[in-house]
Amino acid sequence: MDLSVSSDLASIPGSSLDVERIRADFPILGQEVNGHPLVYLDNAATTQKPQAVLDAIQDYYRTGNANVHRGIHELSRRATDAFEGARGRVARFLGTQDPSEVVWTRGTTEGINLVASTWGDAHVGRGDEILLSEMEHHSNIVPWQLLAARTGARLRYIPVTDEGTLALEALDDLLSERTRLVAIGHVSNALGTIHPVAEIAERAHEAGALLLVDGAQGAAHHPVDVGVLGADFYAFSGHKLCGPTGIGALWGRRELLEAMPPYQGGGEMISVVERDSSSWADLPHKFEAGTPNIAGAIGLAAALDYLEGVGTDAVLVHEQSLVAYALDRMEEIPGIRLFGPRDPEKRAGVVSFLMGDAHAHDISTILDTEGVAIRAGHHCAQLLMRRYGVAATARASFYLYNTREEVDRLLAGLETVRKIFA
Ligand code: PMP
Repeated sequence: MDLSVSSDLASIPGSSLDVERIRADFPILGQEVNGHPLVYLDNAATTQKPQAVLDAIQDYYRTGNANVHRGIHELSRRATDAFEGARGRVARFLGTQDPSEVVWTRGTTEGINLVASTWGDAHVGRGDEILLSEMEHHSNIVPWQLLAARTGARLRYIPVTDEGTLALEALDDLLSERTRLVAIGHVSNALGTIHPVAEIAERAHEAGALLLVDGAQGAAHHPVDVGVLGADFYAFSGHKLCGPTGIGALWGRRELLEAMPPYQGGGEMISVVERDSSSWADLPHKFEAGTPNIAGAIGLAAALDYLEGVGTDAVLVHEQSLVAYALDRMEEIPGIRLFGPRDPEKRAGVVSFLMGDAHAHDISTILDTEGVAIRAGHHCAQLLMRRYGVAATARASFYLYNTREEVDRLLAGLETVRKIFA
């Protein structure tokens, strides 16, 4: 069976991506699942990896594997150069000149926990407030709940509108001199909504608070410039943007990182160790105890090179053109409930929906039998599900390698769902 995408589908209105060429870079996409060509629409959960990323990881293990920073030998030097070069690559990706402001983490979750534990314990006390939104991923809620339980701080939430945006008019009431930090997603994983981060940063700073951005979804879909965003911390995950799992980065403003205590203790993060105390290494190593995920960092840098080659701006436009196409057609399905802003320009490549009496899991299971992979559940956003009075939604999420033909396959699968539940 020919699994390639026909060339008329490769040029999507509004999209400048050569999708046919891009798909050829992703070996996993050329397979059949349950007897059908795979249609992978679960990119908000994790993205597929291009050959360039697979090669970078394999080359490192085949030709350059050694521990970093420790050995005075050629392989260790090479590994250290590649590892620190990858850090510089992430710094450039985030629009900052200073690689020492980039801390390697396991991903967004660890980045947020790092800030909540270190900055939080040092700067947040009883009666202080952390401002979140009802649309946050649990990774950007639970670390703050743990901090609040330790310190007696209070969590407050920006409400979500019926349309699926943040009700920013509530900021007048929510921000005060008690607010220490606003922690907000860049893009919602559950609805796809792109939040006006720069505006929120300005409001947070006017109130004397810092802004942490959960960039797990944002960094994957459009270019990030932490300076333009006005962020004080920005956390993201490699696996959401064509990189490997188990690696991500936390960017923080230098003076904030310098004032923060370490996160974990161990090798690499110290300057001098005495019997009863130690002093810390300079940034960013102060926050990087133990042997890091060297291959992951190298793979992540290769992913950023790949995305830059494609054009990060073009990725978002491509996704939005698929969302526009999908929404136009899904609206016609009887009994469908669509979540999130109707205007595709307000969102990245996510479509969240329910159909009649079908449970989200039934929708996903039926689509799976036709080779279409979507996600069903609360998407680690239970507060948002509660806001809309549902337990779960079905979510199709698009990325740079998805095509209109694949959206058609999704729609055909939804027609099967409709018939079964009619
Ligand atoms: N925040 C958002 C908005 C996410 O989508 C995710 C991943 N689903 C996370 C945080 C957590 O990312 P990770 O699991 O890679 O740490």
